[in-house]
This record gives sequence, C-alpha cells and structure tokens, in this order.
Amino acid sequence: MTPRVLIVGSGPTGATYARLLLEQVPDVEVLMVEAGPVVTRPIGMNVKNVPDPEEQAAARLASQGRSHESGVSGIPGGVVVEGTITARQGTHLIGRAADGSPGMPAAAGATCVGGQGVHWTCATPAPTGPERAPFIEDADWEQHLAVAESLLHVHRPSFDGAPQAAAILERIRDEFAPDGITVRPLPVAADPQADGSLRWSGTDVVLDGVPDDGRFTLRAETLCVRVLRDGDRAVGAVLRDLRTGAEEEVRADVVVLAADALRTPQLLWASGIRPEALGRYLTEHPLLFGVVAVRGDVVPPREDPAGPVDPIRAIIAIPFDEEHGHPYSAQMMFSPVSPVPLPEGSRFRDNPGGYVGMGWGLRKWPRPEDRLTFEDDAPDENGLPGIRIAYELTDLEEADFERARKHQARAAAALGEFVDGMPRVMPAGSSLHYMGTVRMGETDDGTSVCDAWSRVWGVPGLVLAGNGLIPTANSMNPTLTSVALAVRGATALVTELREGA
Ligand SMILES: Cc1cc2nc3c(=O)[nH]c(=O)nc-3n(C[C@H](O)[C@H](O)[C@H](O)COP(=O)(O)OP(=O)(O)OC[C@H]3O[C@@H](n4cnc5c(N)ncnc54)[C@H](O)[C@@H]3O)c2cc1C
Repeated sequence: MTPRVLIVGSGPTGATYARLLLEQVPDVEVLMVEAGPVVTRPIGMNVKNVPDPEEQAAARLASQGRSHESGVSGIPGGVVVEGTITARQGTHLIGRAADGSPGMPAAAGATCVGGQGVHWTCATPAPTGPERAPFIEDADWEQHLAVAESLLHVHRPSFDGAPQAAAILERIRDEFAPDGITVRPLPVAADPQADGSLRWSGTDVVLDGVPDDGRFTLRAETLCVRVLRDGDRAVGAVLRDLRTGAEEEVRADVVVLAADALRTPQLLWASGIRPEALGRYLTEHPLLFGVVAVRGDVVPPREDPAGPVDPIRAIIAIPFDEEHGHPYSAQMMFSPVSPVPLPEGSRFRDNPGGYVGMGWGLRKWPRPEDRLTFEDDAPDENGLPGIRIAYELTDLEEADFERARKHQARAAAALGEFVDGMPRVMPAGSSLHYMGTVRMGETDDGTSVCDAWSRVWGVPGLVLAGNGLIPTANSMNPTLTSVALAVRGATALVTELREGA
C-alpha cells in the first residue's frame, strides 16, 4: 500500500521532509498543508529576489497572517531593524504575555507558503560545541549539516570586490586576534550570479528538488486544526480550508508537524498531546544591538556612491567561542545608510564613512518556567488555543550581557562611534528564533517532547520539525541547525517507510 505522509507547515524544515522523503522513498505520497497563501513564484521564493518593490511589499503584507486584518497584531515601529537578526516585515506577532510575566513582546512568525523562509536574512552559521545537542554524535552532526548546507545552497563569501566589508573585517580581526577570537565572513544561503549579485535562498530551493511526478501536493490556505489519533498512534489530521471554512479529516501513515516553535506546540496541545515538557524551556538569543557611525579613515570610499548596496552579502561574524571568552554570536553589517532612523539634528546623520549594524546574540539558559501556555477559552484568530508566553531573563543572561557589552564596545571603538541611543537590548522575541518548546531529548524523562530522531515520545507516527526542537542554549541563527535535524529525522523516516513497505 502507498505510504502517505502529511506535513503541516511549508517552511524550510517541512520542505526538507518533503524533499528527502519523495526523493528516497519511491512510492510515498506527500500532502503538505500551509495556513498561509502563496506570496512568491516560484513558490517559497525569498521576497528579496522579487525585483519590483511594490510586489515585494505586497508579498510581505500577505504573509502577516489574518490577525493584521483585524488590527490585533501590528508590527511595532521604532525598535526594528532590517538586518542580520531582527528584520520584522513579513511577520506578525504571536501570543500574549502570561499574567505576571514580561513575556516576549516581539514574538512573531510568518504565515505564507515557504514560511519564514520567504523572509529570512539567510545567515547560516553552523552550531559548535555546547550549541549542538550532546546526544547526537559529532560525526552525525557533520553529516546532517553538510546535507542541510546543500539543501539551502549555503555559500561562503570571500568579500572579493567588497572593499568596505573587507576593511571592516580587517579592523575587527586586528582588535580580537590577540585574544585568539576568530573573525570571519558569515556563510549565507544564496547562489552567486554571473553579474556578481546573489540570489537569496528561500524555501523554493529546498522544494526545487522534489520530483515532479504527481506524488507531492501542496495545499495553501489550509489550516491544520488538530492531529487525529487511533489509540496512541497519529493517523491523520483535521484540516480546514480557510477560504471556505470547510473541515475534513485526512488520513496519513505519518504526520510531520513543522508549524514553527510557537504553533507546533499549539497544535500538540489542541490535539490533546500534552507531555510535561510541552511549550517549556523556551529560549531565543537575547540581542544586544548597536549602530556605529564609521570613521572616514576605516573604509575606502564606494566607487559608485549612488549605486545600490546589498549589505547582507557582507556580514562579518564572530562565532560562539567559549574557550576564548566569547560565548556569544556577533554579526556586523556595513551599510552606507543608517539602518535605524536618526533624530533630526543628530551629528551622525549622513555619515560619510557609512554605518555598521552590530548584533551580539547571547545564550538563554533553558528553564522549565520559561514557557508557552495555551488557553482553550481564549482562542486565537483561527479558533486554536490562545498562546501565552512566560519568559524572563535571569542573572545568568544579565551577566552575559555585561560581558558582551565589553566586546561590542571594543568592536565599536575599532570602527567609530555608536549613534544616538545605542547600543540597546532588543525587546524579547526580536530574534525571531524561538527554541526549546518541543525540545528533543535522549530519554523520555519529562524534559523533552520528542526523541533524537524527532519522534514524539509515546505517539507513533508523529514527527516534529523546526527550531522548537533545539534543546541547548544557542546564541546564533538556528535555521541551518533545524534543517540538519530535519535531515536526521527524515533519514530515519525513510528507513521506517521503506521497511514498512
Ligand atoms: C525576517 C526574518 C529574518 C530571519 N533571518 C534568519 C537568518 O538570517 N538566519 C536564520 O537561521 N534564520 C533566520 N530567520 C528564521 C528562519 O526563517 C526560521 O528559522 C525558519 O524559517 C524556520 O523554518 P520552519 O520550517 O521550522 O518554520 P517556518 O518557516 O516558520 O514555517 C512554518 C509554517 O507553518 C505554518 N503553520 C503554522 N501553524 C499552522 C497550522 N496550524 N496549519 C498549517 N500551517 C501552519 C506557518 O504559516 C508557516 O508558514 C529569520 C526569520 C525572519 C522572519
């Protein structure tokens, strides 16, 4: 009998399951459902590749979910920066603070075909040392990460032909070399083009390899309402066509939930699957962000000052390096214009040397009390259980902030001077990288939701994907890691499906 897999969510991790299963299991059929609409063609393409600015803006707006129509969820202005870690357009706020907690005011997601993979900045650092789940062998990590890099088209820029970025790299290297701290260009998910530009990877590049033989179906604007079970086993899901409101039960041999770190646990809750660790151990990487006005002598003048600049192709990174006293991930981007609005009369306006946006991403230590809770009697705009967020920084993170400030101040002084009001700690949730809420674990001891192959403990046929699986204190952009975990889970599932055939 033909095995049937239902994938909920069309972001990079759901797409990884679709691609690998369809490539490697000859007779499997895959149905992928996505709550949001198609916003780019090819489907799931990164909006940055859309040449027309109006079409780009329309694609972003269409990804901001249904709640923006009612004005419930807006994008807060003033605190957001289009850049390495904190770009916000294309997303909508999700969840509210739990009573008595500051919560995560900036928690957000995207609702569109391709998920956040249509809007991401494409920074693809790899996890190192304690950022990797310790119960997965290093050799396995290397293997999964290599496949993930190829699925996402990861490219390592050399900064050839980008003299401003190269000059900044040199300055920062000189500053930190005596400490043994590595400074390097950041890998990005993108394909270099003949004209020197980059085509940014979206979820399209993952889906691109799906065989075109009729075994793959994608249903947009289709909400998964809950997972169906027969005894303990997952056997399908209730799906709602958001255009008509019609609901149907769809059967599947395996259900993969890849609906982001906030909405995958919401679906588990809605399905009555409520293990002790569900929604708990919520982390992100708290962010210290600053903009530096660069001194005129630091960077060479641009050949064509009026020409377009895509700063994201020239991101400089200082990776997590506990051994050398830098247990954070830093990213720096040159831009000829300030990435934040500068006040009237600011002496930093129109700085001839340009600007560098610098973000230091910190670890958040996982604690069970940092968590999502779900309110059946206060549902969200789709009628799914309302998401509440309890989240607080502790002395551990505050101490890291103090140390990170010192590193950041050194980098800033090497290049110029912070502009007005900088640096600042970004509001919780600004990273857009939420982790831990459906974390994986080695044993079913109440501190994890799924096993090391992403299978939900005690629910055969139910597999999870996405950043929510990451169980560690992780200071950097998580997508490559999550796609690597999806590669691992999909590989195990391929074996299972073949054996079951
Ligand atoms: C502006 C921006 C910049 C970013 N920059 C970076 C970066 O530089 N590097 C990096 O590593 N990461 C970055 N990220 C994060 C990155 O995009 C995510 O880590 C990645 O997309 C996660 O993939 P995913 O497949 O797990 O989930 P997502 O891409 O979030 O996709 C989940 C999908 O599930 C759908 N869904 C949810 N609930 C349901 C339901 N009940 N039924 C049906 N569908 C549902 C959602 O609509 C969504 O489309 C950025 C994100 C944004 C928004």
